[in-house]
Amino acid sequence: MKLSEIDATLRRIRVSPVKTLGQNFLHDRNLARWIVGKAELTGDDYVVEIGPGLGALTEFILESGARVLAIEKDQRLVEFLRSRFVDAPLEIIHADALDFDLRPLFAERRVKLLGNLPYYIASQLLLKFTKYPSPISLWLLMLQKEMARRISAAPGTSDYGALTLVVQLNYRVEFLRTVPATVFLPAPDVDSAFVRITPRLPDELPEHDPETFFQIVRQGFSQRRKQLRNLLKNEVPEWEQATAAVGFDPRARAEELSLAQWISLSERSRLRLADGEIAPVAERFPVVDESDLVIGDALRAEVHGNNLRHRAVHLFIFNRFGELFLQKRSRSKDRHPLLWDSSAAGHVEAGEEYDVTAARELKEELGVTAELIRVVKIPASDRTGHEFIWLYRGEHDGPFQLAKSEIDHGEFFPTGVISGWIKARPEDFAPGFLECWDAFAHP
Ligand code: SAM
Repeated sequence: MKLSEIDATLRRIRVSPVKTLGQNFLHDRNLARWIVGKAELTGDDYVVEIGPGLGALTEFILESGARVLAIEKDQRLVEFLRSRFVDAPLEIIHADALDFDLRPLFAERRVKLLGNLPYYIASQLLLKFTKYPSPISLWLLMLQKEMARRISAAPGTSDYGALTLVVQLNYRVEFLRTVPATVFLPAPDVDSAFVRITPRLPDELPEHDPETFFQIVRQGFSQRRKQLRNLLKNEVPEWEQATAAVGFDPRARAEELSLAQWISLSERSRLRLADGEIAPVAERFPVVDESDLVIGDALRAEVHGNNLRHRAVHLFIFNRFGELFLQKRSRSKDRHPLLWDSSAAGHVEAGEEYDVTAARELKEELGVTAELIRVVKIPASDRTGHEFIWLYRGEHDGPFQLAKSEIDHGEFFPTGVISGWIKARPEDFAPGFLECWDAFAHP
């Protein structure tokens, strides 16, 4: 809409922009078209738009043929949008975007998020909608210029800080352009900027533990002017050694370290703390025949290398709402890293029975105990990786103590979302889980 149209529309629907809702409406149609163009939308895309307002971006998103889910907090604007875009593939939710449940988005093939964000909650929205792991593949956001600078900053600049690294750990952020306040009605007090955010590739960064990373980064930036050696005395005691290994000046301040150097430094700190851990012994698995009778045992590598039949358990843990806990496998797993899998799973070890393994895996991977019930036994085949699998179910609401070396992330999902997700993106799941899901549905 042009400036005069926005003005007339607001008068007609008797809305005066509410400052506390960050209502600044874009009246530059060329800019709106340019913004939406950056999403390279097709009819296959599913777009989530935060704060559609009067539909400045929505109009062009719909032109692409994409389906749109728009979340708007102001009921008056929801009604206006419904009347403006009748018969369009547009669902408008009257809600606070901060309360939006992102999990159903996993059941969509390609999700892109667009928004000219209300600035009073822009940082909360940004952190919520970029929570890792995410079903979203592209974010195009209008933010206050200052925040856009901070999340896209490079090392050595004054904008580079803890927020930069928190976002950039999982995402690439590009500052696309500055947008003057004059393109909005009413004009906000500050200039804006438009950023593109894309997820990093799974193997783009070295192995790291996010919790330790965030802790070290926050501590490092707690007093920007201080040298890191004084701020990280406890976390990294052998400072000279560490700086030589990671490759930076021992007198450096937080803003001088790149993302890769922060990861490297935090991993040194984590590994020093984990030093006392006992090295794992080489696991031996029972080898079984086609009837699942034990005929010997062999090392894990032999079993997998020679496709020998062996035994495994999978656990489906539900919460009181009937949602299933899924784990995303750690990036260091030799098989199916970063794919989504059963709540817990593992191999039966030599001398162990299925039920014992099930209880052990629940404790080792999720840190809890629960009554486990056998559901179905799945025969060994190519599809199960030559494993006989006993599937168990149990109930627990969490919270869980996830085994960091095994699990990247874990979350409860409604079963309807999982069905839709498997249909839309089966490649997101470990094959063993897909077998169990089928067997669970048709025992
Ligand atoms: N996209 C429109 C445009 O570009 O003209 C409007 C952008 S305006 C900066 C922000 C919009 O977000 C407003 O329509 C406002 O009502 C809406 N909004 C504010 N807080 C919200 C929230 N918590 N959840 C969803 N929408 C919100």
